[in-house]
Amino acid sequence: MHEVSLVRSIAATLEEAFSAEELMRLTNIKLRVGLLSNVEPVLLQNAFGAVQEGEGKFAGVTLAVELLPILVECEICGHRSQIDNYKFACAHCSRPTSNVVQGNELLIHQVEFSDPLPT
Ligand SMILES: [Zn+2]
Repeated sequence: MHEVSLVRSIAATLEEAFSAEELMRLTNIKLRVGLLSNVEPVLLQNAFGAVQEGEGKFAGVTLAVELLPILVECEICGHRSQIDNYKFACAHCSRPTSNVVQGNELLIHQVEFSDPLPT
């Protein structure tokens, strides 16, 4: 499943960026997912749950998925338009455009940690 491998790559990214002690305190992962990235938030949540249960990783950590709309920038007039229903046209001058400036993202936007335990 596409989403499970995504969750694994997110996990690998976090394990590279943070120490094991820091990851013990991880509470929340915030993702930003563009509408063109073919990621279904519900499936991503399910995959995250499966990895939590199956691999014992990220116990108690929540995953938040923010969907980003598709934005195009018109080559003619420079106007930025949000794309609805996959009609790739400029909202200002109506010219067709496929100059996507947002919508392909799949980013770890933010991670949150609980306070360190007193030593
Ligand atoms: Zn335009």
